[in-house]
Amino acid sequence: MKKILILSLASISLTISSCTTVPLTGRSRLNLVSDSQVLPMAFQAYGEFLTENKSSLLSSSNAQAMQAKRVGSNLINAVKTYMNANNYGDLIKDYQWEVNVVQNKQLNAWCMPGGKIVVYTGILPVTKDDSGLATVLGHEIAHAIAGHSAERMSKEMVSQGIALAGNVALSKNPQTQSIFNTLYGVGTPLVMLKYGRDQELEADRLGLIFMAMAGYNPQNAVTFWQRMSSVSETSQKPPEFLSTHPSDATRIARIQNALPEAQKYYKSNTGKPIK
Ligand SMILES: [Zn+2]
Repeated sequence: MKKILILSLASISLTISSCTTVPLTGRSRLNLVSDSQVLPMAFQAYGEFLTENKSSLLSSSNAQAMQAKRVGSNLINAVKTYMNANNYGDLIKDYQWEVNVVQNKQLNAWCMPGGKIVVYTGILPVTKDDSGLATVLGHEIAHAIAGHSAERMSKEMVSQGIALAGNVALSKNPQTQSIFNTLYGVGTPLVMLKYGRDQELEADRLGLIFMAMAGYNPQNAVTFWQRMSSVSETSQKPPEFLSTHPSDATRIARIQNALPEAQKYYKSNTGKPIK
């Protein structure tokens, strides 16, 4: 009897340690890969992307690059302040934040684990202004902060039988790299992994709060997604950003529902919601 109790306690503690809590939403997510495994892979893939796209990389004196870096750093500072003040500092301690813009007509932008961001000039006519861009970057940063890549990788490891859902993070598993490469299309033109529907909704909610904390009115997220939606209706081929971020009516309605929560952060101007 005692033995069973000890065993079940052990399995409970293993299950707990294989999960991480998502900041703000409080959701418990599966996490079988540690940042010490994922971040170096992301940094390497990002470095390779920059090298491959060297000729289309905008210099930091370019107006569009300046806009992306300005909006990006406002968001990054707000996120850092929030995380450090709420005992989540450890989740971003190894981040190496960076924002770059590539001259590319794709409607696209992404943030890899570890804070590595790319904005494609093709999305800027749709983001239109700083708050539109803050909508996109807030959302992308939210995917990183919420550990959505590690969650996808963990689920993949479970489905391939590499790990059990209750296992603790595996250190140095060689298959981790191949899962990362497959999800990100490393070796082919780098693509961002397709997040799940729930992860998209979570990134929308967190992104709204992050943009509000950074001083951008979250109300502008609704108009951004409406613009994105009309682009998808008029274009023959769906924009890259929309292949992973469907801008349907349900999504916009959910964002509208999440607005009152985000407005509390926008109006408070202190990183803490007003009551
Ligand atoms: Zn997303």
